[in-house]
Amino acid sequence: MILTVEERDSILSELNEQQRDFLSKQLVRSRRTVFANAMAKEKGFHIPENADPEDIEALLDEWVYTGYIDAGSVSPELRCECGRSLRYQHQVEHKKTGEVKKFGIEHLKEHLGIDASMVSAIKKGFDAIDYELDEMLIKRKSDWQPNPEMLDIEGLPEDVMSHLKLGLPLLDRQVKRLRQQPPARKVWIDNYTPPVQEPSSNEDMLLDLFTWQEEPMAPKPSAASSGLPASLHAPIQAYIAGGVRSARVICELLIREQHADEERFLTGKPKIFIEVCRFIEQSYPNASVQALDKEDRSYSIPE
Ligand SMILES: [Zn+2]
Repeated sequence: MILTVEERDSILSELNEQQRDFLSKQLVRSRRTVFANAMAKEKGFHIPENADPEDIEALLDEWVYTGYIDAGSVSPELRCECGRSLRYQHQVEHKKTGEVKKFGIEHLKEHLGIDASMVSAIKKGFDAIDYELDEMLIKRKSDWQPNPEMLDIEGLPEDVMSHLKLGLPLLDRQVKRLRQQPPARKVWIDNYTPPVQEPSSNEDMLLDLFTWQEEPMAPKPSAASSGLPASLHAPIQAYIAGGVRSARVICELLIREQHADEERFLTGKPKIFIEVCRFIEQSYPNASVQALDKEDRSYSIPE
C-alpha cells in the first residue's frame, strides 16, 4: 500500500458510484484470481497467471474466494471467525461442502488451515492488487491523462476501454502493454488468431515459445484425427459445455480426470495443449478465440 488508509478513503470518496462499483468488482475478481492461483499451484497445476478465475476454480474442489465487505472503519458489526472486529472482511466458500468462512486477512492461515507458502502467496498477491489501486488513485488525484497517440489504434483491449469509458486513469502495466503491441496488433484485435502449430521435434521450450511468434500457417485439413486420442473428445466437449474456457485448464482437467498424457514442455505447458486447441477450433468453428498470450487460449462458444 502506498497511500495511507485515510488518503485512499479520501480519493475513493471523490469517485462517482459507477467508478467505485467498477473498482470494487475488479478488486474481487483480482483477489479471486490470486487466491485460486495459489490454491491451484499448491495442487500442482500449472496455470498461466492471467487465466480467468472461473477457469482456475474449475480445477479446485476446496476454498474459493467469493468477496469482501468494507465496513468503512473497524466495526464490531463485522467480525473475524474468532470474533475480532474488522474493517475488511474477506469471504471464502468451500466448493464441496458449501461452508462459508469470513475473516480478516491476518487470520487467513488460522481460519483456513492452509500452508504458510500459500498464505504468503495470497497476501503478496493481495498487496500487489492494493498497490495498483493506489497507483490509479494517485494518478486520478493528479488528473493524469493518457497520451492520445497511444490510444490511436483500432480495437483497444477491453480492460483499457473500461477504464477510459469510466474516466479512470490507466495503470502502468496497461500503458506498457499498449506500447508493446506489435504492428500486427490490428489484425489480432479483429478476432483473428493464428492457427495453432505443432512443434515437430523435442526442442521443447524454444519451440513452445516460438511457435506462437511465427507467421500464421493454414491449418492442416486432416489434423482432427491426429495426436489426440478419440477418448478425450467427449470429455473436452463436456468441459466446454460446463463453461470452462481456458484450453490450459481443459488440459489440466484431462490429465487429472481422464488420465491424458502428462508430458510437458519445460515451460510447464502440457504437450497435448496444441492438439486440444486444434480439436476445439475444429469442433466449434463459431467459437471466438482469445489468445491470452503464448501460454493459453480462451474460447467463447456462442449459444
Ligand atoms: Zn480470526
